[in-house]
Amino acid sequence: MADGLRVTALAGGVGGAKLAEGLAYLLPPAQLRIIVNTGDDFEHLGLTLCPDLDTVMYTLAGIASSETGWGIEGDSFHCLAGLERLDGPAWFRVGDRDLATHLLRTEWLRQGARLTEVTRRLSTTLGVSHSLLPMSDRPCRTIVVTPDGELPFQTYFVKRKARPQLMGVRWDATMGIGATPEVMAALAWADVIILCPSNPFVSIDPILALHGVRDTLKESHVIGVSPIIGGEAVKGPAAKMLQELEGEASAAAVATHFQDVLTGFVIDCVDSGLAPRIRDLGIDVEVSETLMPGLDERVALAGRVLAFGSALRG
Ligand code: GDP
Repeated sequence: MADGLRVTALAGGVGGAKLAEGLAYLLPPAQLRIIVNTGDDFEHLGLTLCPDLDTVMYTLAGIASSETGWGIEGDSFHCLAGLERLDGPAWFRVGDRDLATHLLRTEWLRQGARLTEVTRRLSTTLGVSHSLLPMSDRPCRTIVVTPDGELPFQTYFVKRKARPQLMGVRWDATMGIGATPEVMAALAWADVIILCPSNPFVSIDPILALHGVRDTLKESHVIGVSPIIGGEAVKGPAAKMLQELEGEASAAAVATHFQDVLTGFVIDCVDSGLAPRIRDLGIDVEVSETLMPGLDERVALAGRVLAFGSALRG
């Protein structure tokens, strides 16, 4: 497929996982690397949770919950019920089989393994043959700035349901933290880099904030896919965040946000009227159906993105 094109995708959770599944369907493992945001990671009940990594891993393993897009299909929640009964912190919903992932990951990290290695072991065991790369082995947690002060990402996102106004986003320890050697190698190796339709501020920006990543992307062929369709996010607070931080929720606002790295941008058919504005930024535009409820749509969009990427590479 795609004439041996080497592709590296940058992904958050749900939207990223959908396109990653389509890409993984079309490309053999030798042609695809998937770099995943770890800015959402946090410690919960003594365990290290990596929500975006797990969403992408479960999706590629074919076991993600089709209802939520995260967690494991058909999982039970006995532990969570026990926590509720004990008045414990049940605000973050963790299923029982999902818990096994967090227990093992935490155990292996405590034994000194890198998150990259832990992810490789977990994903391989679950049958994922493509390479999933956490953006960093060291914590670089996303912190959101709100009128109520600074909040850790999961407190804002899950506990406070993304309701506080967003005034800014920052990364606690990112200054000086680089991506892993595997991530930098995957970026240098790629013929085309894809920004999946993930939340710009809290899924893609954390990866770009790592030392050296943005500069590498500026020298590469980078294709983005809009997470905003018709002015709205398919799921989650991306549109609200765009409105609050950029003053406009649209595919054009996403393109503008990433204009320093984008070569091309894929927007939905309903947004075709925005194409001239995006082209004026010096970014090539492809118009396509971009909603991906199921595998067919994911594969179809991945195919369009790969064809666009091949053509732009020339
Ligand atoms: P999170 O970390 O779980 O929030 O996941 P992401 O950041 O990867 O994905 C959230 C974004 O995915 C939201 O902005 C959604 O609008 C977008 N998204 C979800 N499903 C789709 C889809 O089918 N098509 C497109 N274009 N975007 C989607």
